Formats: sequence, C-alpha cells, structure tokens
Amino acid sequence: MLGDFVDTVKFCVEVILPLPLKGSFTYLLPDEFSDVAVGERVIVPFGNRKFYSGIIVNIIEREKVKTNFELKEVIAVLDNRQIVLEKQLELWKWMSSYYFATLGEVMNNALPAMFKITSETFISLHPEFSGEISSLSEAEVGLTNALMNNDKLSIKQAAEILNVKPANIYKYIRQLIGDCIVELQEEVKNPYRPVYRDYIQIAENFRSDEKMNEVFRSLEKRSFKQLKILLSYFKHAANYQDEYPEIPKKLILDDTDANHSTLNSLVEKGIIDINKHKISRLELVEATSKPENIILTDKQRQALIDIHKSFENHDITLLHGVTSSGKTEIYFKLIEETIAQGKQVLFLLPEIALTTQIVERTVKYFGEQVGVYHSKFNHNERVEIWNAVFDNNKNFSRGYNIVIGARSSIFLPFDNLGLIIIDEEHDYSYKQNDIAPRYNGRDSAIFLANLFNSKVVLGSATPSIESYYNALNGKYALVEISERYGGFLLPETTVIDMKRKADKNNISHFSNELIKEIKNVLENKKQILIYHNRRGFSLRLECEVCGWVPECIHCDVSLIYHKTFHQLRCHYCGYNKHVPSHCPNCHSDRIFMKGFGTELIEEELELLFPQAVIKRMDLDTTKRKNAFTKLITEFSSGEIDILVGTQMITKGLDFENVALVGIINADNMLYFPDFRSFERSFQQICQVSGRAGRKNERGKVFIQTFSPDHKAIKYAINNDYRGMYDNQTIERRQFNYPPFVRLIDVKLRHKDSNILDKAAEVFAEMLRKSLGKRVLGPEYHYIPRLNNQYIKSILVKIDRTSDFPVLKNEFRRIYETFSENPQFKSVRIIVDVDPY
Ligand code: ADP
Ligand code: ZN
Ligand code: ZN
Repeated sequence: MLGDFVDTVKFCVEVILPLPLKGSFTYLLPDEFSDVAVGERVIVPFGNRKFYSGIIVNIIEREKVKTNFELKEVIAVLDNRQIVLEKQLELWKWMSSYYFATLGEVMNNALPAMFKITSETFISLHPEFSGEISSLSEAEVGLTNALMNNDKLSIKQAAEILNVKPANIYKYIRQLIGDCIVELQEEVKNPYRPVYRDYIQIAENFRSDEKMNEVFRSLEKRSFKQLKILLSYFKHAANYQDEYPEIPKKLILDDTDANHSTLNSLVEKGIIDINKHKISRLELVEATSKPENIILTDKQRQALIDIHKSFENHDITLLHGVTSSGKTEIYFKLIEETIAQGKQVLFLLPEIALTTQIVERTVKYFGEQVGVYHSKFNHNERVEIWNAVFDNNKNFSRGYNIVIGARSSIFLPFDNLGLIIIDEEHDYSYKQNDIAPRYNGRDSAIFLANLFNSKVVLGSATPSIESYYNALNGKYALVEISERYGGFLLPETTVIDMKRKADKNNISHFSNELIKEIKNVLENKKQILIYHNRRGFSLRLECEVCGWVPECIHCDVSLIYHKTFHQLRCHYCGYNKHVPSHCPNCHSDRIFMKGFGTELIEEELELLFPQAVIKRMDLDTTKRKNAFTKLITEFSSGEIDILVGTQMITKGLDFENVALVGIINADNMLYFPDFRSFERSFQQICQVSGRAGRKNERGKVFIQTFSPDHKAIKYAINNDYRGMYDNQTIERRQFNYPPFVRLIDVKLRHKDSNILDKAAEVFAEMLRKSLGKRVLGPEYHYIPRLNNQYIKSILVKIDRTSDFPVLKNEFRRIYETFSENPQFKSVRIIVDVDPY
C-alpha cells in the first residue's frame, strides 16, 4: 500500500525546478534511490499534472522536514551521475541572492536546454467514451474524429484542429473532459539526442591473413562488388595502428558506390560486422602552431613576470595593455602554466569576439584540449561540451581542460579551476540585460574563482572605470604594457568638424577629407574599416512642413524605415505599417527621410567607390552561424577593400593590412543618455582605432563629429586612459555613480498608467523611508511605453561602505514586502543590480 511505503522513506531531497518561483521544493526520496547525490537530476511532479526535471540541492533526513502538506515523491533519477557539482550550486545560490533572481531562473540559464525535461501534455479519447457525438459542436466533433484516427494529439495539434491558440485550448476542451469524452495525459521526453554512426569491422573469425586470402579468392570469382568493399576497408585500415580497426560505414560506401544489400551479404556471410557507436558532434582539432614558435618580447616577458609576482599577494590582476600589445600571447603562457599544474582554465571573451580569430588562435595553440562555448552552438552541441568538461574532471587528459567561451561558460561543471582570464573585461556584453538573472559574467566569474581559490586576470586596452579603481586601490594588482607588439606606433588621428563641412546642402555622410583619404588608401591597395554604431538603414520619416514623425502605436518610439520591405517598423515590438504618401497631420506630401545606419553608409560608399569591394558587418548580416567568420576570412585575405560595421568590427580582430579607420559619427555615442557614455565613447574610439596600422606603416584614423572639442575624443586621440579615468572619477564621485556607489535599477511595468503611477509612488516611498536620499525617482523610462506597457524606473544608489550588505538586505526586505502586496500583483517588477 502506498501509505506503508511512504512511511518507510528515510530521506527527502530539496530540488530546484526550472520555474520562476522562489526557493527549492521538497520531495520524498524512495529508498530505491537512496544512493543519489546533490547535483543529480531527478524527475518530480509539480502542480496538478506536470512533471519536471530538477536538480537536487540538498538531501535531508525525513524527520527534519516539517511541512503541513503531504509530500510528493521523486519519480525517477536520471543520468546516474551529477550534472552540476557543489561549486556550481554555490555559484547559483550566490547569483540568485545577489541579482534578485529565483534559483529556478538561474538554473534555466545555467543548464543547456537539453538537460531540462518538461512533460508534454497529450489529449486522447477517454477509454469509456461511447461514440455519441450528437451534442457536440462542429469543432468538438472534428477533434473527436481526429482522436478516433490517432492515439493521441499534442496540444498544438489539437489547437490547430479547433482553430484556437494553444494557450486557450483548455477553455475548449474542458467540456469534453467533463463529459468523459477525452482525457489528458503527460509524457516525459528526454530531448537530447545522441548521434550514432555505423562502423565496419572484419568479424573476429576472419581476422587472419589466411582467412582473408581465402575470402578474396572466392570473391574474385563471385562478387566483384563485395570485393571492392573489402579492398576499401583495408585501404582505410592502413591509416590505423590496429590491423582490423572499425572504419566508418559512410567512408566505405562513398568510396565504392556499393549499396546496403552488398554490405548485408558480407554481414550475412559473417565476414564483416556493422557496429553502432555514439559519436561526438564536436570537431576535434589538432594543435598546429607549436608554442615554441612564439617568443615573448622583453615587454611581454616583463609583464608575465609582473603577473606572477602579483599573484603572490593578489587573486586578481588587471592587465592594462594597449591594443596589440600582445596580451593574448601572455594569456597563452599563463594557460600553459596552469594546465601543466593539472588545473583547468576558463578563458572568457565578449560574445561576438568568440566567432573570430582569437578562438582560432587558441585552438591552433592548444588543440583538442580547448572547448568553445557560446550562443551560436545548438542545444545538442552544448550538452556535449558540458559532458566533455565533466569528463575532464575525472581524467585530466580527457575532455576539455581549457574552455574559451562567452559569459554563460561560467556555468560549466569545472571542478579544478586554476585560472580565469577575462579578456576585454570592460565589454558590456558580459552583462545579461534581457532576462533574469541579470548577471555580470565578469563579476560572477570573480566569485567563481574565489570558490576555487583560483587566479583571475582581467585584460583590456581600455579597462572599465570600476576595475581600474579597484586596481588603484589595491584590491586588484595592476600590470601595464604601454607599447604595441613590435613597437609599432598607435595610429595618427584626425578629427573632422562636421559643423564646418563646406557644403551645407550636401547630404553625404562623408566629409571631403575622409573621401580623399579613402581614395588614397584604395590606390595603395590597403584596406579600410568604416565604423558606425547604428545598424540597418535607420531611416526615420519626417514631415518637412509640420515636423510630424510616424510613431509606433504600442511603444513611444519612432518607426524605422526598412528598405527591403519598403515598410516602417518598430525595433522594439515589431509593429509595422506602410510608408504614407501624405502627412496625416497637415496633408503635405513633403515627407523626407532622416538619419542613417550602416546599410545606408554601405550604399553611399558603393556610389562613391564603384570599383571597390564593399561589405557590411552588423547584426543583420551575421545572423547565420558562419556568416561572421566568412566575412572575417574574406577581409583577412584581402578580398574586401572596405568593411562597414557596428561594434562588431572593433572586437577581437587583428588585420595586417588596415591603413585607415573612419568613424562616421562620434556624436551618437557621446550623447547617449547613460552615465557611462563618456567612458564608452572613449573605449570605442580607442578600440576601433586600434585596428589601424601594423608592422609596415602607421595607420590613420578619421573621426567625424559635430563636437570636435568633446573631451572623450581628446583623451582617446592621445590614448590618455589615465586622463579619461581622472576626469570621470571626479564627476562620478560628485554625482554618486559607480565605482563610488552601487546601483540597483528597478523598473515597474504595467499597461495602465494610473496603476503604474500608484505602484511606483508607493514602492519609492517605502524605500525612501528606510534608505532615504539613496532613492531616486520614480521617473518615466526614456522610452515611457513599450509594447503597450508603461515603464517607470526607480534608481537606488547604495554607498560602497561596510554597510552595503545591510542596506542591500533592507532593500530586499522592502522589495519582497512590496511584491507580496496583492494590490500591485499585476505590476511587473524588474530588479537590475549593477546595471551596465
Ligand atoms: P592584444 O591581445 O594585446 O590586442 P595580440 O596578442 O593580439 O594583442 O597581438 C597582436 C599581434 O601581434 C598578433 O598578431 C600576435 O600574433 C602578434 N604577436 C604578439 N606578441 C608576439 C610575439 N611575442 N611574437 C610574435 N608575434 C606576436
Ligand atoms: Zn505634416
Ligand atoms: Zn513598438
């Protein structure tokens, strides 16, 4: 009996489920599963009829669990091994607490989707259904008929038959369930699919020269086709050490044009076996550039020595080295030393740099020890990378001991990390902004390193002000390289004042100076990068008479013109409409385009330089997995003369032949409404300039701007990081911004602006009562309405003193009280800690 069974259970487990609910959930652990460990995956029921796979975070004695409701049982244990280790669970818990996310949200982000199993609901006929359908609606009859022909239908299929949205289906089938016509059932599916491959091998009984000779002689007379298969087998076998190795079936079939029935005859005669094996989706790469080919320069060697020395009394070292100072080669030495000690290395890069040269360099150097992990991998591939890191834990010579990846690779199951390198540590793509947990990969990696007692190297030519501040204050060690590899000069920069552009009616985006220089460079067969930080056409319409601008009906933003569709579109919600021929406001037909994006710049260049090969690199042209790499390869090999692009062209790229970098409009970044825009402009100008010039000659940079005297440009031209830092720290101290305070940004959203106003006012007041002047707002967001939801924000600035944890807990308490207030249940609250 069930009751008896439950009573004998001695242990319970706490499980994290992939749901945005607080905390973990307790289940009874049947005795047959008593050997499970923390970090293993189990299937448990949740809610009325759903099953989920979750991760065990705790195993506790039954007696110690106090609940006033009946506990459910663990249904199955998956995998027979841990999926995550204790250290990763500690990271999850810290993230959940620090970034105000639930453990389920952290888990959802951390685990490859394929590890997450949710049951799927199916509809089938009720076993007692009589066949009587006279009382049913037409749609219900359709569904019932479909079920008579099929065992079961998924919710999606049923929704199609009923012609309703899957989300609304329950409304329609409730009656059918009540009348015992259909029933629901849950099926659990494991979504991960291994790949299998067939291999051919000579059967054991025939593995001798004598036997094979016999076979050959007999086949010569009878079947030339079968003979060809064996010949092909031995041709491939010659590449192996084993005399009778397994050869992929596909190789032999391709080789001989044989068909399956010929193969099968050989199998039936017992001459060959066909074996099925699970294979990896991941390519194995051999190291080709031998480490000894690279000899560090004196400057690099000194930096390496300084880093070693800094590790004696620091865990974190900031390596501030100008662009092309050879930081990557220094990382390689550090990685080599770490794996020689039998420890693992995590090498973090901004997302976009990952599909480029630096990964290729690393893989060339370290070969199959390197695993690459980023968002362009599919779900199955991610599981295999995950497993390869896991294999490395048990046996250091197997799997991956070096992982190069984007921010999400901090979640991989390392158990022996010795070093974390965070390249381009200032890059904003380390911060996850769109979904919870809204974590910073750099800061979370530092927490992870701390768990392993491993060292951290933060590298950048333009460090974040926060990290440099930590370095000057002794929290991090600081190592600097101020010279480029080979002593090449930083480029010569010209600032072009667009206010003084001679011809006011000329609508070109290019100044005469820049056009002249491009011509020059093209004649000398060198290459050009044109940087513009807006993608697409980015054209807006405006009525010249009354100033009317078409806006989105769901969001408070203007619509953007898309040439491909000849359509106006909202970049936030996707709303689109036709291009009007007359102004709806004043009926004038003088509607003109304004503004510009990369696509437009590309078109103008094509008109100006019809002979040149011009390509564009931005989000729109790099959606496919290998598009980015293809552009880079074409550019490196000189097939492209001019590459136009967004931020993408500034990251992780290293080209020999670039003589000129043009920045089309620096003002876009200078005046972005964010306290970091000064710092970011400086960083972007330095980074993009860093792509100009190499061994042979000094590169040139042209910056077009309406604010030629802006200080961020001045500091960037002089490559004066310290000047920029000093300037900004004075301002930030005065106006209370990081690094002097920590920010918590709260956004409240609701479709009714009255409810939103009330909620925001109440919340801000509650916060102010205990945190006082640290609370700013509420204020409307700079886009006050998105997707029909109004948005208000409250900014909390918490002093970076010893009181920080106390004050943050105070914030937490108020936030939780407010979230539980039933009056504001429908208000969505998004908390972003350390917004970036
Ligand atoms: P950073 O990471 O600082 O931008 P890189 O490590 O990419 O700089 O170095 C810039 C270029 O100089 C690369 O092409 C790199 O291969 C080359 N380089 C750097 N150091 C050396 C060295 N010691 N020997 C040979 N080439 C080097
Ligand atoms: Zn008008
Ligand atoms: Zn919109």
